[in-house]
Amino acid sequence: MYRVQQLIGGVWGADGDAGRLTVLDPVDGTPVSAAPVATEAEVGAAVKAARSAAPRWARTSPAERAAALRRAADAIEAVADQLAEAQTAELGRPLALARGGVEAGVSTLRQYAELGPVRGGRSLAGDAGAIDLMVPQPRGIVAVITPWNDPVAVSCGLLGAALVTGNAVVYKPSERSPACGFLLARLLDEHLPSGVLSLLTGDARVGATLASQDVDVVAHVGSTATGRSIAAACARTGAKALLENGGSDPLIVDGDVDPRWAAEQAAIGAFANSGQLCVSVERIYVLRPIATRFLGALVQSAGSMRVGPGRDPRTELGPLVDRRHRDHVDSHVRAAVADGASVLLGGEVPDGPGAFYPPTVLSECTDQMLVMREETFGPVAPVMVVESFDEALSRASNSQYGLAATVLTASMSNAQRAWRELPVGTVKINAVFGGAPGGAAEPRGGSGQGFGYGPELLDELTATKAVHIGAPGGESGRW
Ligand code: NAD
Repeated sequence: MYRVQQLIGGVWGADGDAGRLTVLDPVDGTPVSAAPVATEAEVGAAVKAARSAAPRWARTSPAERAAALRRAADAIEAVADQLAEAQTAELGRPLALARGGVEAGVSTLRQYAELGPVRGGRSLAGDAGAIDLMVPQPRGIVAVITPWNDPVAVSCGLLGAALVTGNAVVYKPSERSPACGFLLARLLDEHLPSGVLSLLTGDARVGATLASQDVDVVAHVGSTATGRSIAAACARTGAKALLENGGSDPLIVDGDVDPRWAAEQAAIGAFANSGQLCVSVERIYVLRPIATRFLGALVQSAGSMRVGPGRDPRTELGPLVDRRHRDHVDSHVRAAVADGASVLLGGEVPDGPGAFYPPTVLSECTDQMLVMREETFGPVAPVMVVESFDEALSRASNSQYGLAATVLTASMSNAQRAWRELPVGTVKINAVFGGAPGGAAEPRGGSGQGFGYGPELLDELTATKAVHIGAPGGESGRW
């Protein structure tokens, strides 16, 4: 059992009177971690402590800040197995996937440690004798509010970028993965000056209290509904809102590709991490000429996936994060069936303990179905057969979200049209996942705002100041 502690103003162990929350193992329902729920006073104290630690950290040289991050990355790498096990215990993620998340987190920390110190501003061509500069400065306090679905990788990105740019951080990990947040914060804190990082645990109310405090940035990765409420809180306080939110990513399967290969791509996209990835394939549009063979192959791929506990190395599909989330996924499937979808595979909540849900393939889906409109975030592949690439593009574009999209096609002109026209942050052609290091995009619509990843995240977390230094007694400075 993980006993999570909070970190406030450099002191571990604050445990107020708002109670504790318990996380249950999604495999068998046994308790795996217990965490305090931060009180309003604790949230205020963490922000106050961050405010007082911020100026000194901002004055620390970027090279020193980067060295601290590098030491923390080494420490995290040394206990990568423990962090992977915590994810498997709290979330049910297969161990190999969980370990991949830790490795991604470590490499992001190292990337920001490299990029932080070599970032500079610009010098401008002003009056002779004057000096004109544009200089990035830390914003102050960044509240980092994160989700559970890839807890270490996502947190490392925001924490690393905020810290290396000289901000103090108040970190609030998801209530579904407090032990992952605790273990990570403990390793980072060991290499940082006291007070620069605080950790608060608890649920949505704690997040909302934090988002309404006197902080300079609220960086949130999570659902669209939460992102919108954080944006509203930031509008009241004047803090900057940086939002990486939900998606309903389409996959378009053109009529000229191998249906077996396309089905394998669709299965990876829809079922990896049991469909609990922000960039999971959430809806599939397949052109009629290959639709029957594609559906047959997709059912075969999905049906051959090994479902089981994340601790079993043979498991490809672990349980969903908890039963509350399983109810949500199942409600989308039930609603689709009630609206006329056919279940080709899965679609039934299994008997027995835990939060397991089978890989599910639905056909005859329509635009109106919840499963096509909203984020299901589960191992569900809803398919709609379309008559033309134009129709596929138009249906794929018709969404309140705009995170990412994938197109499988042998046609260069269709690929070109797709990446130009799809109103999303990321377009992947002929691969559901992947991309070059450093790639980052601005999500569109309900999927968020700003760069939550890549070198550009460092720009988001600094504020640029323009400086004009005239020569004493010189000509410049007259209106
Ligand atoms: P969530 O928004 O419910 O929770 C995320 C965090 O926000 C948690 O720490 C939670 O306690 C906090 N929170 C909840 N309500 C809040 C409020 N009103 N004010 C402030 N904080 C609040 O999301 P989740 O269920 O943990 O995560 C799944 C979602 O995250 C999915 O929608 C997924 O697509 C999205 N996600 C997006 C990305 C991306 O890069 N775009 C990456 C990973 C996950």
